[in-house]
Amino acid sequence: MTATAPREGQLWSRCGGCATLLYRKRLRRNLDVCPECGAHARVDAPERLLQLVDPGSFTALPERPAEVDPIGFVDLLPYPHRLTAARAGTGLAEAVVCGTAALGRHPCVLAVMDFRFLGGSLGCVVGELITLAAERALADGVPLVLVTASGGARMQEGALSLMQMATVSQAIAALREAGLLTVSVLTDPTYGGVAASFATNTDVVLAESGARMGFAGPRVIRQVTGRELPEGFQTADFLLRHGQVDMVVPRHALRGRLVALLAAARAGRRPASRAGVPRQEPSPLVARLAGGAATTAAAPGGDAWETVRLARHPGRPTTLDYLETAFDGFVELHGDRLGADCPAVVGGLARLDGRPVMVVGHQKGHTTAELVGRNFGMASPAGHRKALRLVRLAARLGLPVVTLVDTPGADPGVRAEEQGQAAAIAENILALTVLPTPVVAVITGEGGSGGALALAVADRVLMLQHAVYSVISPEGCAAILWPDRPAAPQAARALRLTGPDLCRLGIVDDLVPEPAPAAHHDPQAAARALREAVLAHLLPLLDVPPATLVRRRRQRFRRFGAARLGARAGAR
Ligand SMILES: [Zn+2]
Repeated sequence: MTATAPREGQLWSRCGGCATLLYRKRLRRNLDVCPECGAHARVDAPERLLQLVDPGSFTALPERPAEVDPIGFVDLLPYPHRLTAARAGTGLAEAVVCGTAALGRHPCVLAVMDFRFLGGSLGCVVGELITLAAERALADGVPLVLVTASGGARMQEGALSLMQMATVSQAIAALREAGLLTVSVLTDPTYGGVAASFATNTDVVLAESGARMGFAGPRVIRQVTGRELPEGFQTADFLLRHGQVDMVVPRHALRGRLVALLAAARAGRRPASRAGVPRQEPSPLVARLAGGAATTAAAPGGDAWETVRLARHPGRPTTLDYLETAFDGFVELHGDRLGADCPAVVGGLARLDGRPVMVVGHQKGHTTAELVGRNFGMASPAGHRKALRLVRLAARLGLPVVTLVDTPGADPGVRAEEQGQAAAIAENILALTVLPTPVVAVITGEGGSGGALALAVADRVLMLQHAVYSVISPEGCAAILWPDRPAAPQAARALRLTGPDLCRLGIVDDLVPEPAPAAHHDPQAAARALREAVLAHLLPLLDVPPATLVRRRRQRFRRFGAARLGARAGAR
Protein backbone atom coordinates (compact mmCIF):
# COMPACT_ATOMS: atom_id res chain seq x y z
CA MET A 1 0.00 0.00 0.00
CA THR A 2 1.46 3.30 -0.99
CA ALA A 3 -1.23 5.69 0.17
CA THR A 4 0.26 8.97 1.29
CA ALA A 5 -1.02 11.05 4.16
CA PRO A 6 -2.34 14.45 3.15
CA ARG A 7 -0.05 17.41 3.69
CA GLU A 8 -1.05 20.59 5.43
CA GLY A 9 -2.59 23.15 3.15
CA GLN A 10 -3.96 20.71 0.62
CA LEU A 11 -7.71 20.55 0.30
CA TRP A 12 -7.75 17.29 -1.62
CA SER A 13 -5.61 14.22 -1.68
CA ARG A 14 -5.56 11.14 -3.85
CA CYS A 15 -5.94 7.71 -2.23
CA GLY A 16 -2.89 5.53 -2.85
CA GLY A 17 -5.11 2.46 -2.85
CA CYS A 18 -7.92 3.30 -5.27
CA ALA A 19 -6.80 6.71 -6.65
CA THR A 20 -10.06 8.35 -5.58
CA LEU A 21 -9.73 12.08 -4.98
CA LEU A 22 -10.74 12.65 -1.36
CA TYR A 23 -11.58 15.79 0.58
CA ARG A 24 -8.75 16.11 3.06
CA LYS A 25 -10.83 16.96 6.11
CA ARG A 26 -13.08 14.00 5.46
CA LEU A 27 -10.05 11.73 5.17
CA ARG A 28 -8.59 13.02 8.42
CA ARG A 29 -11.90 12.57 10.21
CA ASN A 30 -11.75 8.98 9.02
CA LEU A 31 -8.29 8.56 10.63
CA ASP A 32 -6.62 8.70 7.20
CA VAL A 33 -8.37 5.53 6.12
CA CYS A 34 -9.87 5.80 2.63
CA PRO A 35 -13.67 5.65 2.95
CA GLU A 36 -13.87 4.16 -0.55
CA CYS A 37 -11.37 1.28 -0.45
CA GLY A 38 -10.21 1.09 3.19
CA ALA A 39 -6.55 1.79 2.36
CA HIS A 40 -4.68 2.95 5.47
CA ALA A 41 -2.53 5.98 4.59
CA ARG A 42 0.63 6.48 6.62
CA VAL A 43 0.17 8.55 9.75
CA ASP A 44 2.90 10.68 11.34
CA ALA A 45 3.75 10.41 15.04
CA PRO A 46 1.89 13.52 16.29
CA GLU A 47 -1.27 12.48 14.45
CA ARG A 48 -0.94 8.90 15.70
CA LEU A 49 -0.75 10.12 19.29
CA LEU A 50 -3.90 12.18 18.78
CA GLN A 51 -5.68 9.08 17.51
CA LEU A 52 -4.58 6.81 20.34
CA VAL A 53 -4.31 8.59 23.68
CA ASP A 54 -6.93 10.14 25.95
CA PRO A 55 -7.26 13.83 25.00
CA GLY A 56 -4.74 16.01 26.80
CA SER A 57 -3.04 13.09 28.55
CA PHE A 58 0.21 13.02 26.57
CA THR A 59 3.36 14.48 28.17
CA ALA A 60 6.57 14.20 26.18
CA LEU A 61 9.53 12.77 28.08
CA PRO A 62 11.96 15.53 28.98
CA GLU A 63 15.13 13.85 27.73
CA ARG A 64 16.83 15.48 24.75
CA PRO A 65 19.92 13.39 23.96
CA ALA A 66 22.81 15.24 22.35
CA GLU A 67 23.06 15.20 18.57
CA VAL A 68 25.48 12.58 17.34
CA ASP A 69 27.39 11.98 14.14
CA PRO A 70 29.54 9.17 15.50
CA ILE A 71 31.33 8.12 12.32
CA GLY A 72 31.38 11.41 10.41
CA PHE A 73 29.28 9.90 7.66
CA VAL A 74 29.11 11.64 4.30
CA ASP A 75 27.32 10.49 1.16
CA LEU A 76 26.15 13.21 -1.22
CA LEU A 77 25.58 15.35 1.85
CA PRO A 78 27.14 15.22 5.33
CA TYR A 79 24.86 13.35 7.75
CA PRO A 80 24.24 16.45 9.96
CA HIS A 81 22.78 18.21 6.93
CA ARG A 82 20.35 15.37 6.42
CA LEU A 83 19.36 15.55 10.09
CA THR A 84 18.72 19.28 9.80
CA ALA A 85 16.57 18.75 6.73
CA ALA A 86 14.59 15.99 8.46
CA ARG A 87 13.97 18.25 11.45
CA ALA A 88 12.80 21.08 9.23
CA GLY A 89 10.56 18.77 7.23
CA THR A 90 8.87 17.09 10.19
CA GLY A 91 9.08 19.56 13.07
CA LEU A 92 10.44 16.67 15.16
CA ALA A 93 13.79 16.33 16.91
CA GLU A 94 14.18 12.69 15.91
CA ALA A 95 12.39 9.72 14.34
CA VAL A 96 10.52 8.80 17.52
CA VAL A 97 8.23 10.67 19.89
CA CYS A 98 8.11 9.35 23.46
CA GLY A 99 5.99 10.28 26.42
CA THR A 100 3.62 9.29 29.17
CA ALA A 101 -0.08 9.12 28.44
CA ALA A 102 -3.34 7.44 29.37
CA LEU A 103 -5.44 5.16 27.18
CA GLY A 104 -8.94 4.63 28.49
CA ARG A 105 -7.56 6.10 31.75
CA HIS A 106 -4.88 3.41 31.96
CA PRO A 107 -1.46 5.02 32.35
CA CYS A 108 1.33 3.90 30.04
CA VAL A 109 4.47 5.06 28.27
CA LEU A 110 4.36 5.37 24.49
CA ALA A 111 7.08 5.53 21.88
CA VAL A 112 5.78 6.32 18.40
CA MET A 113 8.09 6.21 15.40
CA ASP A 114 7.76 8.59 12.48
CA PHE A 115 8.63 7.25 9.04
CA ARG A 116 8.99 10.76 7.58
CA PHE A 117 12.15 11.29 9.62
CA LEU A 118 14.93 9.52 7.66
CA GLY A 119 12.64 6.55 7.06
CA GLY A 120 12.05 6.03 10.77
CA SER A 121 15.58 4.69 10.96
CA LEU A 122 17.00 3.41 14.23
CA GLY A 123 20.07 5.41 15.21
CA CYS A 124 21.79 6.03 18.54
CA VAL A 125 19.40 8.80 19.59
CA VAL A 126 16.28 6.85 18.61
CA GLY A 127 17.60 3.83 20.51
CA GLU A 128 18.41 5.99 23.52
CA LEU A 129 14.97 7.63 23.50
CA ILE A 130 13.09 4.32 23.31
CA THR A 131 15.32 2.87 26.02
CA LEU A 132 14.59 5.87 28.24
CA ALA A 133 10.89 5.38 27.54
CA ALA A 134 11.14 1.74 28.62
CA GLU A 135 13.05 2.75 31.74
CA ARG A 136 10.37 5.30 32.54
CA ALA A 137 7.70 2.58 32.18
CA LEU A 138 9.71 0.40 34.57
CA ALA A 139 10.10 3.21 37.09
CA ASP A 140 6.38 4.07 36.93
CA GLY A 141 5.30 0.41 36.90
CA VAL A 142 3.18 0.88 33.77
CA PRO A 143 2.99 -0.84 30.36
CA LEU A 144 5.06 0.24 27.36
CA VAL A 145 3.38 0.69 23.98
CA LEU A 146 5.59 0.95 20.90
CA VAL A 147 4.25 2.05 17.53
CA THR A 148 6.80 1.12 14.90
CA ALA A 149 7.41 2.50 11.41
CA SER A 150 10.93 2.03 10.17
CA GLY A 151 13.10 0.95 7.29
CA GLY A 152 15.63 -0.46 9.76
CA ALA A 153 18.88 0.55 11.41
CA ARG A 154 20.35 3.94 10.42
CA MET A 155 23.31 3.30 8.13
CA GLN A 156 24.71 6.79 8.66
CA GLU A 157 25.69 5.74 12.20
CA GLY A 158 27.31 2.46 11.18
CA ALA A 159 27.47 -0.50 13.53
CA LEU A 160 26.49 1.71 16.46
CA SER A 161 22.97 1.65 15.00
CA LEU A 162 23.06 -2.12 15.08
CA MET A 163 23.87 -2.01 18.77
CA GLN A 164 20.59 -0.17 19.44
CA MET A 165 18.71 -3.39 18.67
CA ALA A 166 20.38 -4.94 21.72
CA THR A 167 20.12 -1.83 23.88
CA VAL A 168 16.37 -1.48 23.44
CA SER A 169 15.82 -5.25 23.71
CA GLN A 170 17.58 -5.25 27.07
CA ALA A 171 15.18 -2.57 28.29
CA ILE A 172 12.24 -4.67 27.05
CA ALA A 173 13.68 -7.65 28.95
CA ALA A 174 13.71 -5.62 32.18
CA LEU A 175 10.00 -4.87 31.73
CA ARG A 176 9.35 -8.54 31.08
CA GLU A 177 11.16 -9.51 34.30
CA ALA A 178 9.08 -6.95 36.19
CA GLY A 179 5.84 -8.37 34.80
CA LEU A 180 4.98 -5.17 32.94
CA LEU A 181 3.11 -5.52 29.66
CA THR A 182 4.88 -4.54 26.47
CA VAL A 183 2.89 -4.11 23.26
CA SER A 184 4.08 -3.21 19.81
CA VAL A 185 1.88 -1.94 17.05
CA LEU A 186 3.39 -2.64 13.64
CA THR A 187 2.50 0.04 11.13
CA ASP A 188 3.53 0.29 7.52
CA PRO A 189 6.39 -0.27 6.95
CA THR A 190 8.39 -1.99 9.71
CA TYR A 191 11.61 -3.60 8.49
CA GLY A 192 15.16 -4.60 9.29
CA GLY A 193 16.65 -3.91 12.69
CA VAL A 194 13.44 -2.57 14.17
CA ALA A 195 11.46 -5.61 12.97
CA ALA A 196 14.16 -7.89 14.34
CA SER A 197 14.13 -6.39 17.82
CA PHE A 198 11.56 -4.36 19.72
CA ALA A 199 8.83 -4.56 17.08
CA THR A 200 8.54 -8.30 17.65
CA ASN A 201 10.04 -9.18 21.03
CA THR A 202 7.24 -7.58 23.01
CA ASP A 203 4.55 -9.58 24.84
CA VAL A 204 1.82 -8.76 22.34
CA VAL A 205 2.30 -7.75 18.70
CA LEU A 206 -0.54 -6.02 16.86
CA ALA A 207 -0.36 -5.29 13.15
CA GLU A 208 -2.34 -2.40 11.80
CA SER A 209 -4.38 -3.33 8.72
CA GLY A 210 -2.27 -2.91 5.62
CA ALA A 211 1.03 -2.87 7.51
CA ARG A 212 3.96 -4.81 6.12
CA MET A 213 6.69 -6.21 8.34
CA GLY A 214 9.74 -8.27 7.63
CA PHE A 215 13.45 -8.57 8.22
CA ALA A 216 14.52 -8.20 4.62
CA GLY A 217 12.58 -5.97 2.26
CA PRO A 218 10.86 -7.42 -0.81
CA ARG A 219 13.33 -5.83 -3.23
CA VAL A 220 16.30 -7.44 -1.50
CA ILE A 221 14.59 -10.83 -1.34
CA ARG A 222 13.72 -10.67 -5.03
CA GLN A 223 17.33 -9.80 -5.88
CA VAL A 224 18.79 -12.54 -3.73
CA THR A 225 16.40 -15.31 -4.70
CA GLY A 226 15.66 -14.24 -8.26
CA ARG A 227 12.05 -15.25 -7.69
CA GLU A 228 8.72 -13.47 -7.63
CA LEU A 229 7.21 -13.19 -4.18
CA PRO A 230 3.88 -14.75 -3.23
CA GLU A 231 0.73 -12.62 -3.25
CA GLY A 232 0.38 -10.60 -0.07
CA PHE A 233 3.93 -11.40 1.05
CA GLN A 234 4.81 -9.74 4.41
CA THR A 235 1.39 -8.10 4.74
CA ALA A 236 -0.46 -8.07 8.05
CA ASP A 237 -2.68 -10.98 7.03
CA PHE A 238 0.33 -12.97 5.85
CA LEU A 239 2.00 -12.32 9.22
CA LEU A 240 -1.11 -13.49 11.08
CA ARG A 241 -1.29 -16.70 9.04
CA HIS A 242 2.35 -17.40 9.76
CA GLY A 243 2.08 -16.92 13.50
CA GLN A 244 4.08 -13.69 13.65
CA VAL A 245 1.47 -11.35 15.09
CA ASP A 246 -1.32 -11.71 17.65
CA MET A 247 -3.93 -9.90 15.61
CA VAL A 248 -4.55 -7.59 12.70
CA VAL A 249 -6.40 -4.47 13.80
CA PRO A 250 -8.01 -1.82 11.59
CA ARG A 251 -7.02 1.70 12.60
CA HIS A 252 -10.48 2.48 13.94
CA ALA A 253 -10.26 -0.39 16.42
CA LEU A 254 -6.66 0.14 17.48
CA ARG A 255 -7.28 2.36 20.48
CA GLY A 256 -10.02 0.04 21.77
CA ARG A 257 -7.78 -3.01 21.49
CA LEU A 258 -4.94 -1.29 23.31
CA VAL A 259 -7.29 -0.15 26.08
CA ALA A 260 -8.51 -3.75 26.54
CA LEU A 261 -4.93 -5.04 26.77
CA LEU A 262 -3.89 -2.34 29.25
CA ALA A 263 -6.99 -3.03 31.36
CA ALA A 264 -6.18 -6.74 31.58
CA ALA A 265 -2.54 -6.11 32.47
CA ARG A 266 -3.48 -3.59 35.14
CA ALA A 267 -5.96 -5.91 36.82
CA GLY A 268 -3.42 -8.73 36.80
CA ARG A 269 -0.94 -6.65 38.77
CA ARG A 270 -3.41 -5.94 41.55
CA PRO A 271 -3.28 -8.27 44.55
CA ALA A 272 -6.24 -10.63 44.36
CA SER A 273 -7.73 -9.63 47.68
CA ARG A 274 -7.94 -6.01 46.56
CA ALA A 275 -9.17 -6.64 43.05
CA GLY A 276 -12.72 -5.63 43.89
CA VAL A 277 -14.40 -8.91 43.01
CA PRO A 278 -16.30 -10.37 45.96
CA ARG A 279 -15.23 -13.81 47.04
CA GLN A 280 -17.71 -16.31 45.83
CA GLU A 281 -18.75 -19.43 47.67
CA PRO A 282 -19.05 -22.57 45.57
CA SER A 283 -22.50 -22.85 44.05
CA PRO A 284 -24.83 -25.27 45.85
CA LEU A 285 -24.71 -27.51 42.80
CA VAL A 286 -20.93 -27.62 42.62
CA ALA A 287 -20.64 -27.84 46.39
CA ARG A 288 -22.95 -30.82 46.36
CA LEU A 289 -20.92 -32.53 43.67
CA ALA A 290 -17.66 -31.66 45.35
CA GLY A 291 -19.07 -33.01 48.61
CA GLY A 292 -18.92 -36.57 47.34
CA ALA A 293 -22.18 -36.93 45.47
CA ALA A 294 -20.25 -36.40 42.26
CA THR A 295 -19.55 -39.99 41.56
CA THR A 296 -23.19 -40.95 41.58
CA ALA A 297 -24.45 -37.75 39.94
CA ALA A 298 -22.22 -38.26 36.94
CA ALA A 299 -23.18 -41.74 36.05
CA PRO A 300 -26.71 -41.81 34.67
CA GLY A 301 -26.92 -45.02 32.73
CA GLY A 302 -23.28 -45.36 33.63
CA ASP A 303 -22.09 -46.82 30.35
CA ALA A 304 -18.62 -45.58 29.45
CA TRP A 305 -19.12 -46.04 25.71
CA GLU A 306 -22.30 -43.95 25.83
CA THR A 307 -20.29 -41.23 27.61
CA VAL A 308 -17.63 -41.40 24.89
CA ARG A 309 -20.34 -40.82 22.28
CA LEU A 310 -21.73 -37.86 24.20
CA ALA A 311 -18.25 -36.38 24.68
CA ARG A 312 -17.74 -36.47 20.90
CA HIS A 313 -21.17 -35.15 19.93
CA PRO A 314 -20.73 -32.49 17.21
CA GLY A 315 -23.34 -30.27 18.88
CA ARG A 316 -21.35 -30.08 22.08
CA PRO A 317 -20.27 -26.54 23.00
CA THR A 318 -16.72 -25.76 21.84
CA THR A 319 -14.09 -23.56 23.47
CA LEU A 320 -15.13 -20.58 21.33
CA ASP A 321 -18.76 -21.20 22.35
CA TYR A 322 -17.77 -21.06 26.03
CA LEU A 323 -15.68 -17.96 25.41
CA GLU A 324 -18.80 -16.36 23.97
CA THR A 325 -21.13 -17.44 26.78
CA ALA A 326 -19.27 -18.21 30.01
CA PHE A 327 -16.64 -15.48 29.57
CA ASP A 328 -16.77 -11.84 28.43
CA GLY A 329 -14.63 -9.57 26.30
CA PHE A 330 -12.49 -12.24 24.62
CA VAL A 331 -9.47 -10.79 22.82
CA GLU A 332 -7.93 -13.58 20.78
CA LEU A 333 -4.16 -13.75 20.53
CA HIS A 334 -2.64 -15.64 17.64
CA GLY A 335 0.54 -17.36 16.60
CA ASP A 336 3.58 -19.14 17.95
CA ARG A 337 6.00 -16.42 16.66
CA LEU A 338 7.92 -19.18 14.89
CA GLY A 339 6.00 -19.60 11.66
CA ALA A 340 2.45 -20.80 12.19
CA ASP A 341 -0.89 -20.18 13.83
CA CYS A 342 -2.54 -23.49 14.71
CA PRO A 343 -6.33 -23.35 14.28
CA ALA A 344 -6.88 -26.28 16.67
CA VAL A 345 -5.84 -24.16 19.67
CA VAL A 346 -7.43 -20.83 20.51
CA GLY A 347 -6.48 -18.50 23.31
CA GLY A 348 -6.38 -14.99 24.59
CA LEU A 349 -7.50 -12.59 27.25
CA ALA A 350 -11.04 -12.70 28.57
CA ARG A 351 -12.97 -11.76 31.68
CA LEU A 352 -14.60 -14.20 34.04
CA ASP A 353 -17.09 -12.46 36.30
CA GLY A 354 -15.24 -9.19 35.66
CA ARG A 355 -11.80 -10.61 36.40
CA PRO A 356 -9.23 -10.85 33.58
CA VAL A 357 -7.99 -14.35 32.84
CA MET A 358 -6.00 -16.03 30.09
CA VAL A 359 -8.06 -18.73 28.43
CA VAL A 360 -6.47 -21.38 26.21
CA GLY A 361 -8.35 -24.31 24.74
CA HIS A 362 -8.70 -26.79 21.94
CA GLN A 363 -11.16 -25.78 19.26
CA LYS A 364 -13.19 -28.33 17.31
CA GLY A 365 -16.35 -27.20 15.50
CA HIS A 366 -19.91 -28.22 14.80
CA THR A 367 -19.96 -28.71 11.02
CA THR A 368 -17.69 -30.86 8.91
CA ALA A 369 -16.12 -27.76 7.37
CA GLU A 370 -15.40 -26.29 10.81
CA LEU A 371 -13.98 -29.57 12.06
CA VAL A 372 -11.68 -29.89 9.04
CA GLY A 373 -10.65 -26.22 9.34
CA ARG A 374 -9.73 -26.80 12.98
CA ASN A 375 -8.04 -30.13 12.32
CA PHE A 376 -10.65 -31.77 14.62
CA GLY A 377 -9.10 -30.03 17.61
CA MET A 378 -5.79 -31.85 17.16
CA ALA A 379 -3.04 -29.36 17.97
CA SER A 380 0.13 -29.12 15.93
CA PRO A 381 3.45 -28.25 17.59
CA ALA A 382 2.63 -24.64 16.66
CA GLY A 383 -0.60 -24.96 18.66
CA HIS A 384 1.26 -26.20 21.70
CA ARG A 385 3.81 -23.43 21.35
CA LYS A 386 1.07 -20.83 21.05
CA ALA A 387 -0.49 -22.19 24.25
CA LEU A 388 2.90 -22.06 25.94
CA ARG A 389 3.48 -18.48 24.88
CA LEU A 390 0.10 -17.43 26.24
CA VAL A 391 0.33 -19.18 29.62
CA ARG A 392 3.79 -17.72 30.16
CA LEU A 393 2.48 -14.28 29.30
CA ALA A 394 -0.33 -14.79 31.81
CA ALA A 395 2.17 -15.70 34.49
CA ARG A 396 4.28 -12.62 33.78
CA LEU A 397 1.24 -10.38 34.01
CA GLY A 398 -0.10 -12.12 37.12
CA LEU A 399 -3.24 -13.38 35.39
CA PRO A 400 -4.78 -16.76 36.22
CA VAL A 401 -5.08 -19.35 33.45
CA VAL A 402 -8.17 -21.35 32.51
CA THR A 403 -7.69 -24.16 30.00
CA LEU A 404 -10.53 -25.89 28.16
CA VAL A 405 -9.53 -29.33 26.94
CA ASP A 406 -11.36 -31.02 24.07
CA THR A 407 -9.16 -33.01 21.72
CA PRO A 408 -9.00 -36.55 20.38
CA GLY A 409 -5.24 -36.15 20.79
CA ALA A 410 -2.31 -34.19 19.45
CA ASP A 411 -1.94 -33.99 15.65
CA PRO A 412 -0.36 -37.31 14.61
CA GLY A 413 0.74 -36.15 11.13
CA VAL A 414 4.13 -36.31 9.44
CA ARG A 415 4.64 -32.55 9.53
CA ALA A 416 3.82 -32.48 13.24
CA GLU A 417 6.55 -35.05 13.83
CA GLU A 418 9.02 -33.11 11.70
CA GLN A 419 8.31 -30.01 13.72
CA GLY A 420 8.86 -31.67 17.07
CA GLN A 421 5.43 -32.64 18.36
CA ALA A 422 6.80 -34.71 21.23
CA ALA A 423 9.10 -31.99 22.47
CA ALA A 424 6.39 -29.35 22.12
CA ILE A 425 4.03 -31.35 24.37
CA ALA A 426 6.84 -32.09 26.78
CA GLU A 427 7.75 -28.43 27.08
CA ASN A 428 4.14 -27.46 27.87
CA ILE A 429 3.86 -30.07 30.60
CA LEU A 430 7.11 -28.87 32.12
CA ALA A 431 6.17 -25.21 31.92
CA LEU A 432 2.73 -25.77 33.45
CA THR A 433 4.13 -27.69 36.41
CA VAL A 434 6.10 -24.62 37.48
CA LEU A 435 3.88 -21.82 36.18
CA PRO A 436 3.71 -19.20 38.96
CA THR A 437 0.02 -18.36 38.53
CA PRO A 438 -3.20 -20.28 39.25
CA VAL A 439 -4.28 -22.76 36.57
CA VAL A 440 -7.72 -24.37 36.37
CA ALA A 441 -8.22 -26.95 33.64
CA VAL A 442 -11.62 -28.16 32.48
CA ILE A 443 -11.99 -31.25 30.32
CA THR A 444 -15.05 -30.17 28.34
CA GLY A 445 -15.29 -33.02 25.83
CA GLU A 446 -12.59 -35.45 24.82
CA GLY A 447 -9.42 -35.49 26.88
CA GLY A 448 -7.24 -37.43 24.49
CA SER A 449 -3.88 -38.56 25.87
CA GLY A 450 -0.76 -36.36 25.74
CA GLY A 451 -2.47 -33.73 23.65
CA ALA A 452 -4.95 -33.23 26.50
CA LEU A 453 -2.34 -33.28 29.24
CA ALA A 454 -0.38 -30.57 27.39
CA LEU A 455 -3.16 -28.21 28.54
CA ALA A 456 -4.26 -29.98 31.71
CA VAL A 457 -1.43 -29.79 34.22
CA ALA A 458 -3.26 -27.57 36.69
CA ASP A 459 -3.98 -26.72 40.30
CA ARG A 460 -7.55 -27.89 39.84
CA VAL A 461 -8.70 -30.28 37.13
CA LEU A 462 -12.43 -30.26 36.46
CA MET A 463 -14.40 -32.37 34.05
CA LEU A 464 -17.79 -31.94 32.50
CA GLN A 465 -20.21 -34.65 33.50
CA HIS A 466 -20.16 -36.38 30.10
CA ALA A 467 -16.55 -35.69 29.18
CA VAL A 468 -13.90 -38.40 28.99
CA TYR A 469 -10.16 -38.34 29.71
CA SER A 470 -8.01 -41.20 28.60
CA VAL A 471 -4.51 -42.40 27.78
CA ILE A 472 -5.70 -43.72 24.40
CA SER A 473 -8.95 -43.72 22.42
CA PRO A 474 -11.18 -46.75 23.02
CA GLU A 475 -10.81 -47.62 19.33
CA GLY A 476 -7.02 -47.42 19.53
CA CYS A 477 -6.98 -49.52 22.68
CA ALA A 478 -9.34 -52.10 21.20
CA ALA A 479 -7.27 -52.42 18.02
CA ILE A 480 -4.22 -53.29 20.07
CA LEU A 481 -5.71 -55.48 22.77
CA TRP A 482 -8.69 -57.06 21.01
CA PRO A 483 -7.38 -57.17 17.41
CA ASP A 484 -9.86 -59.79 16.22
CA ARG A 485 -13.15 -57.97 16.89
CA PRO A 486 -14.72 -54.53 17.30
CA ALA A 487 -14.32 -53.99 21.00
CA ALA A 488 -14.32 -50.22 21.47
CA PRO A 489 -17.23 -50.25 23.95
CA GLN A 490 -15.49 -52.92 25.97
CA ALA A 491 -12.22 -50.96 25.86
CA ALA A 492 -14.06 -47.79 26.95
CA ARG A 493 -15.29 -49.56 30.05
CA ALA A 494 -11.87 -51.04 30.81
CA LEU A 495 -10.04 -47.73 30.47
CA ARG A 496 -11.85 -45.98 33.37
CA LEU A 497 -12.16 -42.81 31.37
CA THR A 498 -15.36 -41.27 32.78
CA GLY A 499 -15.51 -38.44 35.30
CA PRO A 500 -16.61 -40.54 38.28
CA ASP A 501 -13.78 -43.01 37.64
CA LEU A 502 -11.21 -40.25 37.39
CA CYS A 503 -12.51 -38.55 40.54
CA ARG A 504 -12.03 -41.82 42.39
CA LEU A 505 -8.46 -42.02 41.09
CA GLY A 506 -7.78 -38.45 42.26
CA ILE A 507 -6.92 -37.30 38.72
CA VAL A 508 -9.97 -35.05 38.54
CA ASP A 509 -11.03 -32.82 41.43
CA ASP A 510 -14.61 -32.06 40.55
CA LEU A 511 -17.31 -32.69 38.00
CA VAL A 512 -19.29 -29.96 36.30
CA PRO A 513 -22.94 -30.95 35.95
CA GLU A 514 -24.47 -30.83 32.47
CA PRO A 515 -28.08 -29.94 31.71
CA ALA A 516 -30.05 -33.15 31.12
CA PRO A 517 -29.60 -35.10 29.02
CA ALA A 518 -26.28 -33.52 27.89
CA ALA A 519 -24.53 -30.17 27.26
CA HIS A 520 -25.52 -29.87 23.60
CA HIS A 521 -29.23 -29.84 24.52
CA ASP A 522 -28.83 -26.56 26.43
CA PRO A 523 -25.46 -24.90 25.72
CA GLN A 524 -26.38 -21.79 27.73
CA ALA A 525 -27.05 -23.85 30.85
CA ALA A 526 -23.82 -25.77 30.25
CA ALA A 527 -21.94 -22.46 30.03
CA ARG A 528 -23.47 -21.24 33.31
CA ALA A 529 -22.44 -24.44 35.07
CA LEU A 530 -18.90 -24.22 33.68
CA ARG A 531 -18.60 -20.61 34.74
CA GLU A 532 -19.79 -21.30 38.28
CA ALA A 533 -17.50 -24.28 38.67
CA VAL A 534 -14.42 -22.46 37.36
CA LEU A 535 -15.11 -19.49 39.63
CA ALA A 536 -15.66 -21.69 42.66
CA HIS A 537 -12.30 -23.37 42.14
CA LEU A 538 -10.33 -20.40 40.87
CA LEU A 539 -11.19 -17.75 43.44
CA PRO A 540 -9.63 -19.54 46.44
CA LEU A 541 -6.41 -19.97 44.41
CA LEU A 542 -6.00 -16.25 43.76
CA ASP A 543 -4.74 -15.47 47.25
CA VAL A 544 -2.25 -18.33 47.34
CA PRO A 545 1.36 -17.12 46.93
CA PRO A 546 2.90 -18.35 43.63
CA ALA A 547 5.60 -20.38 45.34
CA THR A 548 2.98 -22.23 47.39
CA LEU A 549 0.88 -22.83 44.29
CA VAL A 550 3.80 -24.38 42.44
CA ARG A 551 4.78 -26.52 45.44
CA ARG A 552 1.23 -27.85 45.81
CA ARG A 553 0.92 -28.48 42.09
CA ARG A 554 4.12 -30.53 42.18
CA GLN A 555 2.83 -32.48 45.16
CA ARG A 556 -0.41 -33.06 43.32
CA PHE A 557 1.37 -34.74 40.43
CA ARG A 558 3.95 -36.42 42.66
CA ARG A 559 1.19 -38.30 44.42
CA PHE A 560 0.47 -40.23 41.22
CA GLY A 561 3.77 -42.05 41.69
CA ALA A 562 3.34 -45.79 42.31
CA ALA A 563 4.61 -45.64 45.89
CA ARG A 564 2.00 -43.03 46.84
CA LEU A 565 -0.83 -44.82 45.09
CA GLY A 566 0.23 -48.05 46.79
CA ALA A 567 0.24 -46.32 50.18
CA ARG A 568 -3.24 -44.97 49.52
CA ALA A 569 -4.51 -48.41 48.56
CA GLY A 570 -2.94 -49.90 51.67
CA ALA A 571 -4.51 -47.28 53.92
CA ARG A 572 -7.99 -48.15 52.74
ZN1 LIG B 1 -9.05 4.35 -1.57
